[in-house]
Amino acid sequence: MSRRYELFEIREKDVLGRIGVLNTPHGKVETPLLMPVINPNKLILSPQQMKRMGVKMLITNAYIIYRTPELRERAQRKGVHGLLGFDGPIMTDSGSYQLSVYGNLEVESDEIVRFQSTIGSDVVVPVDIPTPPHVPRRRAEKELGITLENVRRARQLLNELKGSGLLAAPVQGSTYPELRHRAALELSGIGDVYPIGAVVPLMEQYRFDVLAQVIMHSKMGLPPCAPVHLFGAGHPMVLALAVALGCDLFDSAAYALYAAKGRYLTPQGTQVLSDMQELPCACPVCAEHTPEELGRNEMALAEHNLRVALTELKLIRECIREGTLTELVQQRCRAHPKLLSALRAAMSHASYIEEIAPQPRAPFFYGGPESVQRPEVIRHRRRLLDMDIGESCLVLSGRPRGVHGSRGVHGSHHTVCILIAPFGPCPIELCETFPVNTVSIEGDLEAKQCALEALEALILANPSCSFDIELDESWCIPLLLPIIGRLEAFNNVKHIDVKKEIHEGMSHE
Ligand SMILES: [Zn+2]
Repeated sequence: MSRRYELFEIREKDVLGRIGVLNTPHGKVETPLLMPVINPNKLILSPQQMKRMGVKMLITNAYIIYRTPELRERAQRKGVHGLLGFDGPIMTDSGSYQLSVYGNLEVESDEIVRFQSTIGSDVVVPVDIPTPPHVPRRRAEKELGITLENVRRARQLLNELKGSGLLAAPVQGSTYPELRHRAALELSGIGDVYPIGAVVPLMEQYRFDVLAQVIMHSKMGLPPCAPVHLFGAGHPMVLALAVALGCDLFDSAAYALYAAKGRYLTPQGTQVLSDMQELPCACPVCAEHTPEELGRNEMALAEHNLRVALTELKLIRECIREGTLTELVQQRCRAHPKLLSALRAAMSHASYIEEIAPQPRAPFFYGGPESVQRPEVIRHRRRLLDMDIGESCLVLSGRPRGVHGSRGVHGSHHTVCILIAPFGPCPIELCETFPVNTVSIEGDLEAKQCALEALEALILANPSCSFDIELDESWCIPLLLPIIGRLEAFNNVKHIDVKKEIHEGMSHE
C-alpha cells in the first residue's frame, strides 16, 4: 500500500469533487473541509468555540508565531496544539508573503520549515512566492523557480528531521496555464497536500473564470488522487464550484475579514448588514440577533460567516453522496454572472472532466446552456461514435407511431434514432436507458444545437451509411438553420425534412 493511499483516501466522487479522508498526525478528517484561519495575536473566535461549531481542522500562521517572542517560546514548549488549545489537526502557513518582503528566502524557508516541524504542525508549508495574476511571464517563471526549489528543500529537510507533518507543495505560476501545469507536474510526488496558491486577488476581483482556469490547469498536472487545497478561498459562494473542480481543502480568513467590514456572507454572495431588514439564515446567531445588533457585534457576525461556510460544505458533501453536485453548482453559479462564466471556463475542459468523473447516479436535470458540456453528454456522444449503425439510419425528433426499433431487412442493418437534446441521436432501443431517459424538459437552443452537432459527428463518422432525417417544427429555429444546412450538404444525407409535428413527442414521465 502506497504512502499516498494511506494519506488520502477517496470514498465518493461526483464530477471532479470527492469525499475524502485525509490522514494527519492528529487524526483523520473528512474532506471537502474548511480550515478557519486563526491569527494567534487577534482571536475573533477561539479554537474551542470553533470546535463546538463543528470545525475539525485549523490553519494558523507559523511566521507570526515565530516572530512574536512570547508566542514562539510557548509554541516551542507546548507545541502549536498546546498554544492554541486545539487537539485536532493544525496546518501552519509559512507567511510567505511577509517573508518575500524581507528577502533572503532560502535561509528563511529552511528555518521556517524546521520551526513548523518542531512545533508539531500537521501540514507544513515552505516559503512559496505568491505571484499575482497577469504579471510579466519572466517574473512568474523566476518566482516559480524559487517556489519549486523551496519545496524540494523542504521535502529533504522534513525527511532528515523525521517529523510526522505532511508537506504542502504550493502550485504557483500566476495566470500562465503552462506554468501552473508545469509546476503541478514537477511537484507531483514531492508534496503530500497541494495548495493552489495566489488566487485571492482573482477572487477579490470576481475573476472567477480565470480562477477556474487556474484550478483546471493545476489539477491536470497533479495526480488525480492527490488532496488539493485552494489557498485563500473561504467564501461560501465559491465552494461548490471549487469542490466540483476537484479542490478538497479550503481555508477561511474571510469569515473574520468580512465581519470586520460589516459584511454578511451567504452562499449566494456578500451582503452589507446595514442594508438588511432580516437575516435569511437559521443559525443560532441569526436567530438571536437583528441585522442592527449584528452590525455592532463583530464576533457574532464572524460566527455567522463561519457557520454559513461550514453549512455550505455539509450541503456539498451531501450532494456528492447523492450524485447531485452538478445541480448545486449550477444553482450557485446562477447567483452571479461572473460565476456562470467560471462554470463555462471550466467546461472548456469537458473531455478531461469526462475522463475522470464517475458515472452519474442521479437524474440528468437540464440546467441551462452549461449542461451541454456535462460528462454524461460527452460520454453519450463518444459511445454513439463507436456504435455500428449499419447501412441506413432514420433520425427522428420524436418517437413515431408503429416504429419500435431498429431492424434488419433482407440482410441489411438499419438503425432508428431519436434526436434528444442535448445528447444527440439515440438509438430507439436505448431511449429508455439512463441518463437519456431522465431528460425532463424540451431542450433550449443550446441543447438543440448540441444535439445537432452530435448528429453531424455521427454522419461524418459513418460515410457509408445513408441518413434520413425528419425534424418537427420545434427545430425550425433560425439560429439552427446553418447547422441544418451543413447536414443537408453531406453526400450520405439522403433526405432532411423539418416539418409540422407528425410524431408523438418523446415523453419521459
Ligand atoms: Zn446565520
